[in-house]
Amino acid sequence: MKALTFQGIRDIRYESVPDPSILYPGDAIVKVKYTAVCGSDLHIYHGREHGLDMGTVMGHEFVGEVVETGKSVKKLRRGDAVVSPFTTSCGSCYYCRIGLTCRCERGQLYGWVENGHGLHGAQAEYVRVPMADSTLVPFSLGIAPAAALLTGDIMATGFFCSDQAEVRAGGIYAVLGCGPVGLMAILGAKERGAEKIFAIDAIPERLEWAAKLGAVPVNFQEANMLEMVRDMTGGRGVDSVMEAVGSESAARLAYELVRPGGIISTVGVHTSPGFAFSPAQAYDKNLTYKIGRCPARAYMEKLLHRIEAGAVELSPFLSRIERLEEGRMAYERFDRKEPGYLKVILEV
Ligand code: NAD
Ligand code: ZN
Ligand code: ZN
Repeated sequence: MKALTFQGIRDIRYESVPDPSILYPGDAIVKVKYTAVCGSDLHIYHGREHGLDMGTVMGHEFVGEVVETGKSVKKLRRGDAVVSPFTTSCGSCYYCRIGLTCRCERGQLYGWVENGHGLHGAQAEYVRVPMADSTLVPFSLGIAPAAALLTGDIMATGFFCSDQAEVRAGGIYAVLGCGPVGLMAILGAKERGAEKIFAIDAIPERLEWAAKLGAVPVNFQEANMLEMVRDMTGGRGVDSVMEAVGSESAARLAYELVRPGGIISTVGVHTSPGFAFSPAQAYDKNLTYKIGRCPARAYMEKLLHRIEAGAVELSPFLSRIERLEEGRMAYERFDRKEPGYLKVILEV
């Protein structure tokens, strides 16, 4: 089959790789219809996250059709339309039962093979899904497949970010990073009743999308940005910051923006060994800091219902669909944050 593989820093190739096959009785093989490039793929692309074997199939977002099932798969059948969360989960361990499916004792992240172990990704014609019954989510014909795809990562992650931030009506919030995940955090915060959200980025197109979704756009390269936000919050800072960037400077900015007693909710993937603020500084602000991978599987059914009800504005995320074979170019353009490349969905 054809797939996009990792060949080193900034080197993604469209090439032939072996077809995946059933390895365990709980596996399914899915024929991919749409996959996508995520901000998390860029950490690998730039070598900020390392350890990935050369030749690993990239990608962790996909929808498609079940084409084969292992002997113990009970709930799924050939032909089912399914969407996957970006990690697999067993549905029955301690972490799955408490809804922290991203920390499943047997879970794996798609698109991560290290020293020969791990799971190939979904930027491919076919993908092997371990623990398919508990990982995959079937969806109805009433939902466009490309919209369903968004629930498996960026939409779940944005909504998780606003939940961690404990957003409520009457509060004042900031979202750092207006990429796909940050914009989804704005939607999540709106659903929780937020009226005032500062959306912070430096890319004009992304700030425009944030404004269209109802946030107040703020360019972090403007000199008086911190002062302005503080002035608009009675000098205090915001109640919670939703950080969807994943860099030391963003973590530092989150610290500067949050008021004493506030929450920093971070979904940006951090690769730094240190903190951007010290324990003493956190103490002096009575800060709550929450960070980590989104338990997407625990969110997906609810989000699919919201989409089916037509309750969420997803058009910004569905405006760029390229072919899988254009993947190398799609990575480059998404990485450069070129106009029109907010979210890149790849049709297979
Ligand atoms: P993206 O790269 O498209 O968006 C990041 C945005 O942040 C860009 O628009 C960029 O201009 C902006 N930015 C950079 N520095 C900034 C700063 N100092 N302040 C404000 N904005 C800044 O990526 P994305 O797909 O939206 O993903 C965002 C982050 O979320 C990534 O780190 C990704 O790895 C992470 N992520 C985490 C999870 C999870 O489970 N926790 C899931 C998906 C994505
Ligand atoms: Zn992702
Ligand atoms: Zn589990």
